[in-house]
Amino acid sequence: MQFIDLKAQYEQSKVNINKRIADVLSHGQYIMGPEVHELEVKLAEYIGVKHAITCANGTDALQIALMTMGIGKGDAVIVPTFTFFASAEVIALSGATPIFIDSDLESFNLNASKLEATILHVLNCTDLNLKAIMAVDLFGQPADYEKINRLAIQYNLKVIEDAAQGFGGGISGKQAGCFGDIATTSFFPAKPLGCYGDGGAIFTDNDDYAELIRSIRLHGKGKDKYDNVRVGLNSRLDTLQAAILLEKLAIFPSELVRRNEVANLYSEYLSSQSDFILPTCRENTYSSWAQYSVQAVDKHRDIYIQRAQNKGIPTAVYYATCMHQQTVFKDINTAGLDLSNAEQIARSCFSLPMHPYLSDDEIEQVVTSLQNE
Ligand SMILES: *Cc1c(COP(=O)(O)O)cnc(C)c1O
Repeated sequence: MQFIDLKAQYEQSKVNINKRIADVLSHGQYIMGPEVHELEVKLAEYIGVKHAITCANGTDALQIALMTMGIGKGDAVIVPTFTFFASAEVIALSGATPIFIDSDLESFNLNASKLEATILHVLNCTDLNLKAIMAVDLFGQPADYEKINRLAIQYNLKVIEDAAQGFGGGISGKQAGCFGDIATTSFFPAKPLGCYGDGGAIFTDNDDYAELIRSIRLHGKGKDKYDNVRVGLNSRLDTLQAAILLEKLAIFPSELVRRNEVANLYSEYLSSQSDFILPTCRENTYSSWAQYSVQAVDKHRDIYIQRAQNKGIPTAVYYATCMHQQTVFKDINTAGLDLSNAEQIARSCFSLPMHPYLSDDEIEQVVTSLQNE
């Protein structure tokens, strides 16, 4: 059994993907070829935003978002402490200070009920200029943007939505990728929508931001890339990856349906066991189930991981270490911030195989393996 079965997915679309790749090889526009533009149009349509701008990976996408907002030294950005490293990394890379916020035990996302206290903590207890909230759609579920955006408006903060895992999720019919002033995603192969290498995209409705993003992605270009009006990056999506993504995007909606069936089956089978806290979606919220992650309650998670492994079933731990526990961030002061939910999740969570090509039978095998020595 595969944790994520990219081969089974390729089998689904092999003819179309091969044709798309052959097309690129014959037209030869490997950089910024027509497929890149075609993909950006389709992505904007899918998300329901004015601008979708592709780039080299999801980390660059976040960095470009921060550069676009002019965030740097002396600034602060609130970010969940329980996330993939890149979310916090780019804040530090920009010269700003990440301010860590606790998680919600049910959704794994930024704990919106602690957001105002965290904002006030930065305003009252630091010299930093609080500029933005970076919310993460962790494991596929969009964060609580109703509360986040309300507080952002109240305190005049920008919102960045890190939808690297959330692509395909949504709230009340609106797609993940439309909830921040700028949203970003990743097309790393293991993400809900992945390519065959690195890739990313940035989404916004703001025309001025879009112009800046297009410039920063290409060496801070003005009229062209040899007219440089600011310091930027080299962060383009390869035409080949765009071509592959176009075919993967075509089957993505049906894959999402199956991902949700898989998650529902896991929850149904596991609900009779008291060993786990199961992942739940907030009301009106739809997950892309980048991961199906549970928290072990009674026993240490290693016991379940070992049981699964004994039956040849792969599991993974995302993530054993919170950002405030990382060596590189040890000097960032977290006094006065309660991060105990995130610490509990980091100690107890693990993820089960999740992809749209899991059979009902395999899902049962996974569940059974967790029960028996
Ligand atoms: C994967 C991921 C990223 C980074 O994306 P890359 O394409 O690997 O650079 C950022 N944030 C989160 C939450 C992610 O899961």
